[in-house]
Amino acid sequence: MLNCELGMGKPFDIELERLTGRTSYSEVLPGVTAGQRGTFFLETFGCQMNDHDSEKVAGLLLARGYQQVETPEAASLILYNTCSIREKAAQKVFSRLGEYREKQGQGKVIGVLGCVAQQEGEEIFKRAPWVSLVCGSASYRKLPEMLAKLEAGNQRVAGLDTDTDETFETEMTRRDNPWRAYLTIIEGCDKACSYCVVPFTRGPERSRASDSILREVKQLAELGYSEVQLLGQTVNSYADPTLRKMCFSKLLLAVADVQGIRRVRFTTSHPSDFTPDIVQAIEQQPKICDHVHLPVQSGSTRVLHAMQRTYSRKEYLEKIRVRGDIEFVG
Ligand code: SF4
Repeated sequence: MLNCELGMGKPFDIELERLTGRTSYSEVLPGVTAGQRGTFFLETFGCQMNDHDSEKVAGLLLARGYQQVETPEAASLILYNTCSIREKAAQKVFSRLGEYREKQGQGKVIGVLGCVAQQEGEEIFKRAPWVSLVCGSASYRKLPEMLAKLEAGNQRVAGLDTDTDETFETEMTRRDNPWRAYLTIIEGCDKACSYCVVPFTRGPERSRASDSILREVKQLAELGYSEVQLLGQTVNSYADPTLRKMCFSKLLLAVADVQGIRRVRFTTSHPSDFTPDIVQAIEQQPKICDHVHLPVQSGSTRVLHAMQRTYSRKEYLEKIRVRGDIEFVG
């Protein structure tokens, strides 16, 4: 059993297997039955961070007494977790929201999450007045309060704060893969690449406490997960906020040491923070997969500087020369 508190009042206990998605959520919380608050449909676009955010949002909704359904038609709450990395992302979101317009008239509540929600903000309410919730990823920790307002009948609820030092942690995560678990260890980004919206949409860099990460990895191993993928926009910029000050390579080793964990991966690394101790950890511990995603972005130092990347071509080449037997995928 796991003791949970979602900022909604009293802590409660929940059986761990109910968090995996392998069991039916016939009774999620004491006194709460699945679907008693309605049903939700959650559509996700974008990166693994978005996928995992959606898993956490789904866990939170399930814990609250919602039931997940496969189509917007079957849902009372439709959530759209957006990505702004592609060209004309906002246009595409508004076009999809247009398809949901008539659903509001059918009594459904429509919400927009993720990067486009953060970028467009309350403008979404103006352009798509049938939307009731707009929430960027840096405000997900406030979702329980926002959901409570929606349930109370509020027509416009927004969470657009990026000025935060908190990470989105929930004990309830509805993981879709039964063997491999995503786990976000750092959110946001403090870099300033000229082409990227992440610092604006996901807020400043903030790392999750190492003891909280390791506790969750142990719980995952107990549930039967054998692979953990640590996530962050710049995952290797991890900076433990606790007094332990565990560095990223030590965290990798500690995660791999957890009994039951057979594989550890991480994505995405930033070349400037890719230090030799990370390579040593990969070499030392066979459970840490010898696969690194290290975006090069350009082979020209002039272009890298124009992009405000924080390394040169020469520095990048030196990084990947650290060991010739590790596969680098740019
Ligand atoms: S380091 Fe990555 S996430 Fe951060 S601004 Fe640059 S491209 Fe965006």
